[in-house]
Amino acid sequence: MLDSIRTRLTLWYTGVLALVLVVLFVITYLVFLGSVQRRMDNDLSELSKAFLATVRAELEDQSAPDPFTVAVEAAIAEHHFRDHVYAILDANGKLIARSTEDVPTSSKKRPDSPTLLESASFEQFVSSASSAEQFFGMVQGGRSGYRAFARRFTAQGNPYTLVILRSLHPRSEMLEEVTETFAWVIPIAILLASGGGYFLARKSLAPVVAMSSQAGRIGAANLHERLAVQNEKDELGQLARSFNRLLDRLAESFDRQCRFMADASHELRTPVAILRGESEVALSQQARSAEEYRESLDVLHHEAARLTRIVEDLFTLTRADAGQYSLQPRDLYLDELIAECVHSARTLAQAKKISLTFDGAPESPIHADESLLRRMLLNLLDNAIKYTPDGGRITVGCRRSGQEYAVSIADTGIGIPAELQPRIFERFFRADKARSRSESDGGGAGLGLAISRWIAEAHRGRLELTRSDSTGSTFTAYLPLDSGRSSSAG
Ligand code: ADP
Repeated sequence: MLDSIRTRLTLWYTGVLALVLVVLFVITYLVFLGSVQRRMDNDLSELSKAFLATVRAELEDQSAPDPFTVAVEAAIAEHHFRDHVYAILDANGKLIARSTEDVPTSSKKRPDSPTLLESASFEQFVSSASSAEQFFGMVQGGRSGYRAFARRFTAQGNPYTLVILRSLHPRSEMLEEVTETFAWVIPIAILLASGGGYFLARKSLAPVVAMSSQAGRIGAANLHERLAVQNEKDELGQLARSFNRLLDRLAESFDRQCRFMADASHELRTPVAILRGESEVALSQQARSAEEYRESLDVLHHEAARLTRIVEDLFTLTRADAGQYSLQPRDLYLDELIAECVHSARTLAQAKKISLTFDGAPESPIHADESLLRRMLLNLLDNAIKYTPDGGRITVGCRRSGQEYAVSIADTGIGIPAELQPRIFERFFRADKARSRSESDGGGAGLGLAISRWIAEAHRGRLELTRSDSTGSTFTAYLPLDSGRSSSAG
């Protein structure tokens, strides 16, 4: 259940909302409490002023033997309010007069006032108030306690203290009501919000569910199918588009792999068929001369060598694709390596009476994988010899420009038709199979240039066909001086 994003979103949403509501309630409660308290203190202070004004007015009118007591009782009678208790104390804290007003008590037992004014809590309040002109405090008693206010005054030259107690019961009742209201409003709000939240989460995640089931149906057999994009601009639309682009790339790579497999098996079929045919012929004849056996073995050896080359090339490309080919770079001189390769290729060139020249180059230090560079140069030289008619010319050059070397191999060969030039670096591509050296002659499988380009790129360089027309072709490999450093062979 918690594994569903819908449920988790709803729970988070509900949790946050509940927290916000509870915090809101606490703040409201505290603000309300503070405001009620301030208003109550204000009222008590005003009431005390009015009470004392009445006492003074009554004193002026009095001619009785104890005018003060009469004046105070008149003031108590005049300012008689529900939930209020008045007490007048003399300088020694002795109770001189008090109201007889009952205030709500926790039990039906009455009266509350006498016990209230004799309680320890009241006495403590009086003693705390004794040093101040005016003093606010709390007195225990009744249902919810009292807010107490003491004010000092003088009458007929004697100091007195007026204490007014106001029951906190009405305030508690009000706060209880507020709490009760919140107690049912908060759960209802949370319930409604969680229902709404779940509905919204469900609605907004519905496209994801649809996408997931669509994606679940896509496999190798229908890799061309794509997710439906409802709104290209929103996040889910972007997700669907990214997923579709991923499928494009996968389909492309899948197609490439399929083509590669088909081409590879096709290329392997010919030498295997020759091997099988030749060995069957050799075995079927009862009596053969040693010379005939030697010829058969020669054919078998030739095809086996060709097969080995193709398999090695395929292996190299597969490892390169998988990013498993790690370069073994070291410091070497490129001019020396080229000279060695030219020397190795010379025998082949001489067989076709092709002049193969390398004018040499200044010292060309490079940090690179020697065996891979050798393989690339031999591939290019081999091609140049292969596609140059007898008596032609091949010129090899090496020059430095900036931070890279440009190694060029120019021939006076048959050239490559312009429309085929962009494809010659593709795997298994041969511009014209008829023109290529025949397969039975041990010819390449169209992998040489693909591998050579990969070698140049693995060295953070590039291999380009810089010229090709009826007068011949030039291939140029650009290699950075520190080709082998921090380069990836994948
Ligand atoms: P292959 O094993 O067939 O030589 P490559 O990948 O080395 O495969 O070359 C791909 C194709 O590019 C060749 O079949 C050939 O048609 C063309 N090609 C390569 N080098 C030359 C060249 N120097 N002159 C003319 N054509 C070339």
